[in-house]
Amino acid sequence: MAALSPPEDFGWTPDQPLIRLVDVRKSFGAIEVLKGVSLDVAKGEAICIIGPSGSGKSTLIRCINALVPIDSGTIRVEGQEVNDPDLDKLALRRKVGMVFQQYNLFPHRTALDNIMMAPLHVLKQDRREVEARARALMAKVRLAGKEKAYPGELSGGQQQRVAIARALAMRPDVMLFDEVTAALDPETVKEVLLTIRELAEEGMTCILVTHEMGFAREVADHIYFTDAGVIVEHGPPASFFDDPRDPRTQAFLGQIL
Ligand code: ADP
Ligand code: MG
Repeated sequence: MAALSPPEDFGWTPDQPLIRLVDVRKSFGAIEVLKGVSLDVAKGEAICIIGPSGSGKSTLIRCINALVPIDSGTIRVEGQEVNDPDLDKLALRRKVGMVFQQYNLFPHRTALDNIMMAPLHVLKQDRREVEARARALMAKVRLAGKEKAYPGELSGGQQQRVAIARALAMRPDVMLFDEVTAALDPETVKEVLLTIRELAEEGMTCILVTHEMGFAREVADHIYFTDAGVIVEHGPPASFFDDPRDPRTQAFLGQIL
C-alpha cells in the first residue's frame, strides 16, 4: 500500500471560505435539480440548509464531497476544486466527513471497531493510536461504556452517534449532516442534536440539512432556504425565522413552525 502523499497546497488560507460554491448546476436526465447554487461557508461556521423534500438539499451536499459530479459551476473545499478530474477523492473525503440519515454501521462489528475501521484499514494508522482516539470519540459522543456493543444492541440515536464518531475519526475539517435525525425515534433525536451542537460550538465547520427548526435556529450561524434547486433566501437565524421575505419561505415556515 502506497504511503499517503502529503496534503497539497491549493493556496487556501483560513481567512478564505472553507467551502465555496459558485453557480453550481446539476441535472439528473432532463430534471435540473441544482439551478445555479452559490454559497460560502467560513471556517468554524455552521450553516443549515432547509427546504421542502425534493428541493435538492441532499444532492447539494453530496456534490461537496464528490459523491455526485456537478455539470457546471465550481465547488472548492479549502481551495481545492472538487470537480477537478485529477481530484484525489480519498484526500477530499478525509477533509469532508459525512453523516447520512441511514447510519450504515457494520452490523457484525462493535461500535469501537466501526470507528476504528477507516483509520486502520484506509489510512493505515497505528492500531494503538487509532484505538485510543476511537475510545475518546466514544466518550465525546457520550457513549463511553458502549465500546463493545454491536449496532443492533444500540438505539437509533446511539447508532447515529457512533456514525458521527466514525466520521470524526478521519479528523475532517468540515462535517456534512444530511437529515441525520429524520429516521430516529423522537426520544433519541435530542441526544444526537446535542452531539452536533457541541461539535459546532467547538468550532467544527458544519453543513446541516435538517427539518429541526428549533435546532437550526440555535446552532446555525446562517440559514439557507432552498426550493426547486435554487437558494430562495438566506440570512442569520433571527432575521430568517422572524422576518422571512420570500413568499416561498413564508409558506414553508408557516407549514412547519
Ligand atoms: P432533497 O434532499 O431536498 O429532498 P434531493 O437532492 O434528494 O432533494 O433530490 C432532488 C431531486 O433530484 C428529486 O427530484 C430527486 O428525485 C432527484 N434525484 C436525486 N438523486 C437522483 C439520482 N441519483 N438520480 C435521479 N434523480 C435523482
Ligand atoms: Mg434529502
